[in-house]
Amino acid sequence: MQADILTIFPGFFRGPLDHGITRRACEMGLVTITVHDLRQFTHDKHRTVDDRPFGGGEGMVLKPEPLFECLETLQVEPREDRVAGRVKQSVILLSAQGQRFDQAAAAELAVLDRIVLICGRYEGVDERVADFLADRELSIGDYVLSGGEMAAAVILEAVTRLLPGAVGNEASTRQESFTASPQGERSEPAAGANSNGPNSTCGSGGLLDYPHYTRPAEFHGMAVPEQLMSGNHEEIRRWRRQRALEKTLRNRPDLLDGVMLSGEDHKFLARIKKDRG
Ligand code: SAM
Repeated sequence: MQADILTIFPGFFRGPLDHGITRRACEMGLVTITVHDLRQFTHDKHRTVDDRPFGGGEGMVLKPEPLFECLETLQVEPREDRVAGRVKQSVILLSAQGQRFDQAAAAELAVLDRIVLICGRYEGVDERVADFLADRELSIGDYVLSGGEMAAAVILEAVTRLLPGAVGNEASTRQESFTASPQGERSEPAAGANSNGPNSTCGSGGLLDYPHYTRPAEFHGMAVPEQLMSGNHEEIRRWRRQRALEKTLRNRPDLLDGVMLSGEDHKFLARIKKDRG
């Protein structure tokens, strides 16, 4: 995948993308990240990238010319082909007003050949960029950041770890929080059906992930749950499923609507709801 970032702060990306899986994916050639300095696409002495808003009001607005000119040099496919899905490319404007970026959106982007991320600043970006240059606007959450750089880094990290080969154990990205099961695949393995050990190949089915523990088994009086030490795969599977259900109900009950629940799941949820009163 080729990823291009358009920003007035190119130095921002030296840190966040130089570690862990993103760095490894770059080194392995799974993704090439190119950062473009928008000031290189200005033509005045002061390399101006912003201007006052028409109609008055607070702050400054990121000008359209450097963005259009920069994108032209990248020679991406025409917007209408991108919108229609005829090419595997997307030009994304980071914006608090955009559609919410989530794991499904990350998976959608991870199958593309090229993504271009446009980072806004100031009060935002001249609207002609959203209307005529970008093919989608994405927000990383319902809060306002000072710029799109942090959002671009978040999106790139989430997308990169889904590229085949980026994460050592690919099964781990399938069982993580928010990961829906592929169509036709059960979200929960049949009891005792897994020869690889408990839950090593199932999807989370859209639930939050189950809790993880490692050594030491006892730490300052805090013990690892005994079910995980039992060696009984079925007991471990049930315990993990129940903790994932419990945590999802407690922290993100909205997610339960999209999860395929078994009879056992329904009974378990009914019981904890009753216990809570
Ligand atoms: N006036 C804008 C509004 O109220 O929606 C906020 C502009 S913000 C200060 C400047 C830039 O930060 C935006 O153009 C966008 O690129 C980026 N940004 C801010 N919040 C964001 C979010 N939640 N997700 C993605 N990008 C965001």
